[in-house]
Amino acid sequence: MKNIYITKLFRKRLSKKIRFMIISVCICLVLVASSSIYRQVATNAQPINQCLLAKASGCNTNVQESVLSTSGSSQPLTQQERFVSTITQKLKVIPQLGTYEYTLLRSYGAAFVNPSNDVKLPDKVLLTTEEETQEFQTQLTLEKVVGTNDCYLQKAAADALNKAKIQQHIPLKSGYGKSDCTRNFATNLRFWQKYANNTTLEKVKEGKETAILGVVAPPGASQHLWGLAIDLGVNNQKQRQVLNQNGWFQTVVKDVPHWTYLGIPAEDLPKFGFKNQVVQGITYWLTPL
Ligand SMILES: [Zn+2]
Repeated sequence: MKNIYITKLFRKRLSKKIRFMIISVCICLVLVASSSIYRQVATNAQPINQCLLAKASGCNTNVQESVLSTSGSSQPLTQQERFVSTITQKLKVIPQLGTYEYTLLRSYGAAFVNPSNDVKLPDKVLLTTEEETQEFQTQLTLEKVVGTNDCYLQKAAADALNKAKIQQHIPLKSGYGKSDCTRNFATNLRFWQKYANNTTLEKVKEGKETAILGVVAPPGASQHLWGLAIDLGVNNQKQRQVLNQNGWFQTVVKDVPHWTYLGIPAEDLPKFGFKNQVVQGITYWLTPL
């Protein structure tokens, strides 16, 4: 009788040991798999980090797979990596961290995420002369904003705005047209000189002044040169809602009348790395740079 009891006890202990061993093996396998996934993600993310942090120039990363397809709970890239991997499709060179161009990209680069092939963007963040601006603008297909005299935007941007204007009355900021919409280099420069001067520009270039960027864009850096921005007289949430529904967003903090055409639904903006900031009841969508 005693022998039978000992045998049963031995079997029970043995079975416990086997279960313990099986569980241990499973845990090990999970740990090894996680480590392998982590290594893969780290390898993918490395080129972008090199662009941003190691100050490499001419970065053309391999992390070009659709940002939307990698969305979801297992999203492996950071906000910054997702944003940069998207804009590398449009920009020839990702500006180096700490440069004037990087500051401009951070402040005005939101438009570069536009996924439409019909929407054109310059291949750099700064247009340096009137000639260069004209050369870029001659490639654009412009269309008039309904209800204005001479307010033109890139066709996709104008179409989206005109759709929003069917649902809500959305006037231009000045009401005059041209200067609220697509501008030339000279107008960008004139507006800059109204609020700032060469000393301000030097401070911006040295990274010592940023507040002015929410008031006026430096010469050659305005989104208005690209035909993808407009200054509007918006004063209620219903107007903001229909603009958002049609791909228009506020992307420059404290520049209240300024709207940028991104062509992406609001719910998808975080997938492209955008972060939102609410200032005095207005939601701004900012680049994660
Ligand atoms: Zn503006």
